[in-house]
Amino acid sequence: MRAIRFDGPGDWVLAEVPAPEPGPDELLIKVEASGVCGTDLRIATGDYGHLSFPLVPGHEFAGTVAGWGEGVEGYAVGDPVAADPNIWCGRCEWCRRGAPNLCAHWEALGITRDGALAEYVTVPARLAVPLAAGLDPATGALIEPLSCVLHGFDRGGVEGGRSMIIYGGGAIGLLAVAVAADLGAEAYLIEPHARRRERGLELGARGAAGSVTELAGPAQFDLVLDASGAPAAVADGLSRLRKRGTFLQMGVLPTGAEQAYSPYHLYEKEWRIIGSNSVADQYPAAAAAMGTLAPRLRGLITHEFDLADFDAALAAMASADAIKVQLRP
Ligand SMILES: [Zn+2]
Ligand SMILES: [Zn+2]
Repeated sequence: MRAIRFDGPGDWVLAEVPAPEPGPDELLIKVEASGVCGTDLRIATGDYGHLSFPLVPGHEFAGTVAGWGEGVEGYAVGDPVAADPNIWCGRCEWCRRGAPNLCAHWEALGITRDGALAEYVTVPARLAVPLAAGLDPATGALIEPLSCVLHGFDRGGVEGGRSMIIYGGGAIGLLAVAVAADLGAEAYLIEPHARRRERGLELGARGAAGSVTELAGPAQFDLVLDASGAPAAVADGLSRLRKRGTFLQMGVLPTGAEQAYSPYHLYEKEWRIIGSNSVADQYPAAAAAMGTLAPRLRGLITHEFDLADFDAALAAMASADAIKVQLRP
């Protein structure tokens, strides 16, 4: 099969490799759509930290069942399916405390084992979720960032009737707008690029602007979500919290970034400052949410390439109008 294979940091080829064989309790998935994100970019630039090579990247995908190993039941060839790329052990302290995303023995498709920038991928069957028949696989592959958003909202206690400001109109920020609007929250988007702001308004944002001062709306919010990973956005966001406000960090900043905040106001206004990392257990909820969200989400996929065009896909991610870039194996 064809696969993108990293042989080292920054060193990749389109390779012909043997298709993986599903082991016991594993599902073999024919990949129909596979997204690339900042994590892949960090792997490509050698900025991810320790990885072992060769490695097939790709962790945001949807496809169809192509086979299974011993012990797997309930699937038919051709069933539409996605799988949480995060492989957790279920036994460590964090798994037992309901935080499988923080698993002490965490592994992940496309990061610590071969992923979905390939024609086929094997996954532990327990991490697979069926997708609705007829769901476009490209939209289906948005289940990974959508799951991240649902986990963030779970962490942050996002609910209807609250005001919310979202910094960053990439895939995470725009999916957050869509979910917040569906919940009945009053969501606003801060994003420098006009096309992404337009998408935010289409997805239900009450307002969108390049900065809070340009926004026709409130200046303080019940919920502040950073989905930009930009230090300036985090600094601005921390100054925008109402009493009992929650600041939710989803954007990935440089590991050495530091940010001042007011411990006095944290106490006096009863703020909460919360982080949200990855998916946790939200794939099934995201698959269900796709039922109502899917028709509005297709427009988030701005660039689609053949698997052979991985270079072009990485380059497209840097363009101002890119939201979600995907490859078709
Ligand atoms: Zn990702
Ligand atoms: Zn664990």
